[in-house]
Amino acid sequence: MAMNEHRVVVIGAGYTGMLAAIRLAHRTRRTGVRITLVNPSPRFAERLRLHQIAAGQELADHRIPDLLAGTGIRFVQGTVTALDPGRNAVTVDDGTALGYDTLVYALGSSTDTGGVPGADTHAFTLNGPQVAARFAARLRDVAASGGAVTVCGGGLTGIEAATEIAEAHPGLDVTLVSLGEPGAMMGERARAYLHRAFDRLGVTVRTGRGVTKVLPDAVELDGGELVPSQLCLWTTGVRVPTLAADAGIAVDEGGRILVDAALRSVSHPNIHAIGDAAAVRQAWGPIHGTCQSGMPTAQHTADTIARQLRGKPAKRFRFGYVHQPVSLGRRDAVIQFTHADDTPRRLYLTGRAAVRYKDFVSSSPLTTYRLSKRVNVSATLSRGGRATRRAAVED
Ligand SMILES: Cc1cc2nc3c(=O)[nH]c(=O)nc-3n(C[C@H](O)[C@H](O)[C@H](O)COP(=O)(O)OP(=O)(O)OC[C@H]3O[C@@H](n4cnc5c(N)ncnc54)[C@H](O)[C@@H]3O)c2cc1C
Repeated sequence: MAMNEHRVVVIGAGYTGMLAAIRLAHRTRRTGVRITLVNPSPRFAERLRLHQIAAGQELADHRIPDLLAGTGIRFVQGTVTALDPGRNAVTVDDGTALGYDTLVYALGSSTDTGGVPGADTHAFTLNGPQVAARFAARLRDVAASGGAVTVCGGGLTGIEAATEIAEAHPGLDVTLVSLGEPGAMMGERARAYLHRAFDRLGVTVRTGRGVTKVLPDAVELDGGELVPSQLCLWTTGVRVPTLAADAGIAVDEGGRILVDAALRSVSHPNIHAIGDAAAVRQAWGPIHGTCQSGMPTAQHTADTIARQLRGKPAKRFRFGYVHQPVSLGRRDAVIQFTHADDTPRRLYLTGRAAVRYKDFVSSSPLTTYRLSKRVNVSATLSRGGRATRRAAVED
């Protein structure tokens, strides 16, 4: 290591870790900054498209080392097993210790299968391309034998998965089970459009009762009713890795790192937390984990680290939501435009225009990475305007 070289370790090369590393490399080129990016797989997991894999589509296989080419970022394939903030080091599963001056914590989230008996053993998740592909293989068999599939969870992931599966396998019996109404976060007209799409695609929607058990051939609803299903996809909520909490870093009740206004850990300021694994507040309320909000946290963090290295003060992070883009198979979509706090505006988009819009949104992270190697392209659609002018936490 060169004298005075500043070591930045980014853990997690999902949507946010990739952007933080690439943008920081561009912003600090020809300075003494050494960036290392750690991820278990060399494949970049396009989480926004995992429901497409689950329905049987083949997606492009983007390799992280290829996406990093020309940036000078060192890629380490491995799983981080421990953090030691006292010694400023992370341990990788092959036993290697990576020392850092600045750590970017970008470990994301995964589906929470812990709360309901049987979900862990009998249900599939959309936690990565491999498990989604295994689901797709089982789905083909179930469809061939005229069976039934349940998708548990009526959030955006469950909606996208159920419609994608129903469109790809028209003869299949697809049931979406949700405690609340699917699309509850949308405006009335967009929600009505969504329900017409369920009807057109033959998706049965069961609401009002939660799943209490997942069995090999059915899901049990609160009250004991069994919904037959040879295959179950679980999308009811997410959990974050426990690494931060285990290391004594201050976290919220869900294990997300508590951050200051500039997205630095409140207990360990040389640790920056971004994406789903960060507990970020704005004046209008807490941010919930999406790519839409995560990419701006990554951009802000790269800029903050670059500023701090130049001796400049960090700036406050400001963000407002713009849209809820929801695919309904490959031939339909609904885009609900939103206020900064993610509540619906009157405006929404449907049909072919919405399909093109959604595809643009899903492709934009990879485009942003390519451009960010050369220019400071913005991944932030909105800084929230008036809704974020007040600080949520101390600057
Ligand atoms: C099917 C689906 C559709 C979605 N659609 C949308 C959408 O339309 N719009 C939207 O805004 N959001 C959407 N989301 C949510 C979005 O994907 C997440 O909010 C986003 O991926 C969060 O980015 P991240 O970088 O925090 O985490 P991730 O993208 O999950 O990346 C985390 C990375 O950390 C790695 N990692 C985990 N543990 C370790 C470890 N111990 N050591 C090293 N690396 C580790 C993981 O392998 C992964 O590569 C969708 C999610 C799903 C599942």
